Order: sequence, then structure tokens, then C-alpha cells
Amino acid sequence: MAYASVYPLVSARSLARPFTYEVPDDVGPGAVVEVRFGGGKRRGVVVDVVDAPPRGIDAVPIEKVVDDVPAALVELALWLADYYGSTPARALELVAPIKRARRVDRPHPAIREALAGEEAPEALSGSQTDVVGRIVAAMDGGSGAHFLLYGATGSGKTEVYLQACAAALERGLGAIVLVPEIGLTPQAVGRFRARFGEGIAILHSALTDAERRDERERVAAGRARVVIGARSAVSAPVRGLGLICIDEEHDASYKQESDPRYDARTVAAKRASLEGAAAVYGSATPRPESWERLERLELGGRLAGPLPPVKVVDLRRERGYPLSAPLLAELGAIAENGGKAILLLNRRGVAPALHCRACGKTIRCANCDVSLVLHGDGLLRCHHCAWTEPAPQTCPACASAELARLGAGTQRLERELEAHVPELQRVRLDADAVAKPGAAAEALSRFAEGDRIVLIGTQMVAKGHHFSGVALAAVVDADTGLGLPDFRAEERTFQLLTQLAGRSGRDAPGRVLVQTFQPDARAIQLAARHDVREFLAGELERRRELAYPPFRHLVRVVASGPEAASPARLLSELKGGLDHGDVLGPAPLLRLRGRHRAQLVAKTEQPRRVAARVAELLVDAAAAMRKAGVTAVVDVDPQSL
Ligand code: ADP
Ligand code: ZN
Ligand code: ZN
Repeated sequence: MAYASVYPLVSARSLARPFTYEVPDDVGPGAVVEVRFGGGKRRGVVVDVVDAPPRGIDAVPIEKVVDDVPAALVELALWLADYYGSTPARALELVAPIKRARRVDRPHPAIREALAGEEAPEALSGSQTDVVGRIVAAMDGGSGAHFLLYGATGSGKTEVYLQACAAALERGLGAIVLVPEIGLTPQAVGRFRARFGEGIAILHSALTDAERRDERERVAAGRARVVIGARSAVSAPVRGLGLICIDEEHDASYKQESDPRYDARTVAAKRASLEGAAAVYGSATPRPESWERLERLELGGRLAGPLPPVKVVDLRRERGYPLSAPLLAELGAIAENGGKAILLLNRRGVAPALHCRACGKTIRCANCDVSLVLHGDGLLRCHHCAWTEPAPQTCPACASAELARLGAGTQRLERELEAHVPELQRVRLDADAVAKPGAAAEALSRFAEGDRIVLIGTQMVAKGHHFSGVALAAVVDADTGLGLPDFRAEERTFQLLTQLAGRSGRDAPGRVLVQTFQPDARAIQLAARHDVREFLAGELERRRELAYPPFRHLVRVVASGPEAASPARLLSELKGGLDHGDVLGPAPLLRLRGRHRAQLVAKTEQPRRVAARVAELLVDAAAAMRKAGVTAVVDVDPQSL
């Protein structure tokens, strides 16, 4: 008999420690077991095995072994819990999710979700050959390596992932390919499927529990050795991992916004180091963090020809928002000559606000400090909480009938297109339009197959789609993101514009149009010139001066409570107890869901130390916080401020 340290999978912080159980000799780290715990039965994960129980501990035997995960994943989870200030149990839950009942036969998701993939090219380009060679050499070295794969949209990055995955398979190794929001990129899945057939598995949040179980089992059993998935696939139970590719590495969806608040890109780097695998971060618009820190592999420009010219439309001079005259002219040309257009407007609904011209009041959410958004069904909706109310005919404050609709959202844009260019078909892609399962795939394939057709949507339309025949990509309002009080606002705007521009003219000459009230803004100017290097150089210089990532880590603490003063009070106390790093705040944040909020941001070289210290201070403050109804969330390496 042996004794094992087991973390029962319970979320309570007060129980966040291992417990000793007696186990059969063949049980080791990574075994998922059922144990008696706190009067019931619980799943738990074995993290360590010892010959004798700690002194004074009377260990009971486990009930049974139900599953096992690679031991390396246990180590990864414990690191993740520590780095992000979560609990080992919550992190272990990621690598050993609960197993659901088996399902009846249905085609597995890799088949269902793939669009027909293109064939492998006859030969790789010179730079592709070099880059694949470097990645494969690192894989063979087996001591872990981290690369930035930089190349314009259409420069052949996906082909590099495919080749590197094939090389991993030849060596008997497995591979993980992370993609943002997999439901939006069925083409990518199609290419992997065309290349590797049944050998791929798909993991993402829209699968049913039973499907996820089946896919994980195919991976664990080695029947599928290439895993494609969203963020959570970083902890897929691949054994003998040789490669992790992170496609569109700049995408914000890699960060999980609930506990454990992990960043799959950081976790991928750690996993590659632990397992001696090669990690490849690919993007046409890399993060400053990756540009600065990673070894760069460059593919260069687009394979099929030059990037499309970008025309900036100055909305201070051109009339007709949201459809300016130059934009209408471009759309008219498509109506006449054929082709496709993509229009990006990063706002849902009809109008982002209703504003009274008589008294100046804007109609706001009762629970949040944001304006209510007018939707096409005549309802006002809060985009932060579930609040909805019928749009009033007159101002609730002064009864004036002069309620103006400020700005435009995707639904209004759709109507304006109908009014101005009725010859063009319209497909809308935003969170409202694709709420039903399968709706996104349906919209995308309708657009893929159509002609004289416009895809209208939020940032979803700028994701890595490969559509042929896109003659025009236009940003209707490039200013939406620039005004946000976040040090990444410029980076995000630059990425969004450059990515959208990359959707145009992949196979034929295409055009790009950017409408803005700030034509001189750096992010807009440089995106219009496709000048990624210049943008990143300036951005890094600014970040160095201000001690932002990648030069320091950030640790963010957000406190919220039922009244205005208590969150800030708690944060002031926390700040007093932090002896390390440069701490900004407390600063008030928008009220959300009826809770007043404030934040503290620490800039530090030792994020784990700061997060651990905050956790200690929060334990000390727990009783007072409970009394005041205040809660706090610690976010290490937050992606938005
Ligand atoms: P990215 O991922 O950088 O956008 P892709 O890998 O999708 O680029 O390549 C862009 C297009 O070029 C695709 O249609 C792809 O099939 C094609 N392609 C990629 N590599 C080659 C090559 N070596 N020769 C010819 N065509 C290629
Ligand atoms: Zn009024
Ligand atoms: Zn609200």
C-alpha cells in the first residue's frame, strides 16, 4: 500500500490543501480518484505519492480510480493555481473535468464543423521551409522553445502550423492548435481535417458535455493526436506533446475572465517548457509582449500579392454617417460588378444611446453606469446586465418627445444598407444574430457562397476568416475603441483595423476603407499603411516609459460593494499592506449590476508575490468584507483595465 496526496475537487478556498488517502501501489500523480470527503463522495486528483502518511494522520483508502490525466498536467495545474492566485482544486478541474455519460452515435464535431478544406500547396515557400525547419529542430531538441511566427494575413502561417503538426505526428508526438472562437473559423478546422482526417479532435465550449467527453477520450487514448480548440484546449490530455500553436495570438479571447483567470498563451508557454515542446505564437498583428520577448520567425508579406490599399475617410468632412459617400460608392461598385463586402461596426443594436434634446438626459441602466442600447425589437437593453425595458416615446425626465438616437449599431447599419443598396444581400454577424447554436456557421457559409453580398458585424467579422471574392472591407467607425481608458486601446484598434484589412482581396484585388473622426490617430495612420513594425516600436517605447507590460506585470484588484465608499476603503487598506511594486489607485470604475466598484493596479516584476500578498490581506479582511457586502477579485496579467 502507498499513500497519496489528493486534492478533492471542491471550490472552497478554506479547503484548498491536499488530504492523504491510502491508494493501491499502481496509483500515481494524475490519477483521478473518488474519495470520501466531508461526509460525501468527491472526485479528487492525486498530486503526489509517499510511502507513509504524515505523522498523526489516519489515512482512509480511496473509493476507486475513475480516470487519469498525464502527470505533467498536474504540475501545470498547480503552477496555474499559484500564478493566477486561484486554488489547486479549481485549476485541477481544468485538466480533469468531470466525465459525463456516453452519448449516442453522432458524427464527432471535427466532421460536423469543418468546411471543405483546401489542398496542401505543391511546395512551401522559401521562408515557410526555413520557419518549419526551425520549429522542427526545436521539437527534436526537446527542451522547449517559444517562437513568434510573424507574417501578414495570407502569408502562409496556417500552412506552417499544418506542416509542423505533420512533423510532430511523424515523430510520434502530439500537437495542440489553439484558435480564438472556433465557431467562427470553420475553414481552419476544414484545413486540418482535410490534412489529418480522423486524427484530429476538437475542443471548445459550445460542445455538449458528452461530446467533450468523447473528444477528450479520443485524445487521451491517442486516437486523435492533433487537438484544435479554443482557450481550454491548452490543457487537453495529449501525451507526448511536441508542439503547441497559438493562432491569432493577439486575440483577447485567450484570457479567461472567471476564476481561474488564466491566460492560455501564458499557460501554453509553461506547458511547452514543462514538456519540452515547441510553442509557436502566430499573428499578423502580434502583441507588443510577444514582439519584445519571443524569438521571431518571419514569413513576410502575403503570398497571393500585395496587401490592399487602405483609404481613410475623414468623417469630419464627409457627410452621411454611418454610410459616407465614398463607402456608398464602393458598395455601389459591388452591386454593379459583383463581389463581397465586409463592414465592421463594433457595436450591437440600433443605437448605442437615446438622448433627450430638451433636457440633455441620456437613458441609463438602473443597475449599471452605462447607457441603454436601443435594439430593433423596440427594447432598450443593457449590454452588461440582463436589464431590458421598452423604449419610451417621450423623455422619462422631462416628457419631451425629442428623443434622439445617438450613433449607430449593427442593426441600424443593416437597415441603412437595405435603404441605400437594396441590390446587395445582407448577412449580420454579432452576438444577437448568432445567439442560436449553428447560426454563426450558417451565416458564414451563406456569405462564403454568396455574391453581391455584405457581411455586417462586430469584431467577429475581423477574425481569421478566409473568404474568396472579398472586394471591400470597411471599418464604419474606427473610433469606437480608441476612447477607452485602457492602455491597450490603441493596440486593439490597430489590430482590429489591420485584421479587417487582411480580409479583403485575398484572391483578387481588394479595397479597404476606414471611416474615422480622428484620421491623424497613430493607430489609424499606421494601420492604413500596414506598418506593424512602426506601430510596435512606438508602442513598446511608450510602454517602457510607463512601465506597462511587457516591461512590468500588472496585478489588478477589483472590489465591489453595495455602496460607493466601501470598495475604495477596502482597496486603500490593501494598498497600505503592499510593500512591493508601484501601486495605482484606488480608482473608481463604472457601477455594474448594481454594484459600486473600484480598482487597484500594481505594476511589478513579481506578480505572484504581489498576488499572494493580496490574497493574505484579503483573508485578514474577510470578516469586515462580509459585513459590508464587499467582494474582491484578483487578476494577474489582466487584459483589460
Ligand atoms: P495565413 O494563415 O498567414 O493567413 P495561409 O496559410 O492561410 O496564411 O495561406 C494563405 C493562402 O495561401 C491559403 O489559401 C493557402 O492555401 C495558400 N498557401 C499557403 N502556403 C502556400 C504555398 N507554399 N504555396 C501556395 N499557396 C500557399
Ligand atoms: Zn428630457
Ligand atoms: Zn445594466
